[in-house]
Amino acid sequence: MSTGQKIGLLGGTFDPPHWGHLWLAELARQQLGLDKVLFLPVGQPPHKVGREITAVSHRIQLVSLAIETNPNFVLDTTDCARPAPHSTVTLLPLLAQAYPEATFWLLLGGDSLRDLPTWTDPARLITQCRLAVLPRPEAIIEWERLATAVPGIKTAVDWLAGPTLSLSATAIRAWLREGHRATYLLPTAVADYITQHQLYQAKTG
Ligand code: ATP
Repeated sequence: MSTGQKIGLLGGTFDPPHWGHLWLAELARQQLGLDKVLFLPVGQPPHKVGREITAVSHRIQLVSLAIETNPNFVLDTTDCARPAPHSTVTLLPLLAQAYPEATFWLLLGGDSLRDLPTWTDPARLITQCRLAVLPRPEAIIEWERLATAVPGIKTAVDWLAGPTLSLSATAIRAWLREGHRATYLLPTAVADYITQHQLYQAKTG
């Protein structure tokens, strides 16, 4: 057992970051006694190929604004600064080099746990870290199918218990595209940046 820090890893597209991400990070920090949570914007997530993703420079700014009031939350650009492909299984060794004594928990919403079989080498991933999962109401986990695809998964998960938020970046992007503001769906500083830079607007012409 490592005597080092306990670190949560929250990788995501963060397009944009919202209260669901911050709640997942804070719940994990409290329940697992984490020293900090690294927010790791991904460059181009391999499983989201095909969807247009906002420039990483904007997403980095959005994440820094989202976490600016919490000293336990840290922006980490290791993933988006490296060349593709951006798989988590190849990211973990880089983080282990940066934090040699640390124990890692990968923080996931239930949808990501459900979709784990689509990730690169998930069976190896769960030997590199534990998973801390907060259910998402809309994501149904079929355990037998998941355990067949990812042997060892059943004992790799620490469940986070608490209220769940049915909020996604997809829903927020759709809301903004309709011309609304995202006030109260994400931190004010994030909403202001989105307005200032006219992100997530409907394409005209
Ligand atoms: P999108 O709708 O664009 O797919 P998202 O809101 O799911 O985005 P991501 O950046 O893809 O956000 O998510 C990063 C991680 O945060 C994923 O593991 C995801 O499951 C988790 N997450 C996002 N929103 C929530 C939420 N409301 N509750 C729990 N986990 C969440």
